[in-house]
Amino acid sequence: MPLYEYRCKDCGSEFEKMIRFTEANQLPACPKCESLNTQKKLSHVSSFGASSSGVISTSSSCGSSGGFG
Ligand SMILES: [Zn+2]
Repeated sequence: MPLYEYRCKDCGSEFEKMIRFTEANQLPACPKCESLNTQKKLSHVSSFGASSSGVISTSSSCGSSGGFG
């Protein structure tokens, strides 16, 4: 499960939360003030993420055996 960092806009508290893949599109509540006015912080994990209008299309067919990098 990926770990995301969130920040509460109400009290300014920052917290981490493990979000399941099915819960990745909804914001968790603040553990302090239980407000739903939270915001996902930019994490260092940039492999996959449901960003706004971000379509990931990886269509690369590797035929021969070649190392990448
Ligand atoms: Zn809060």
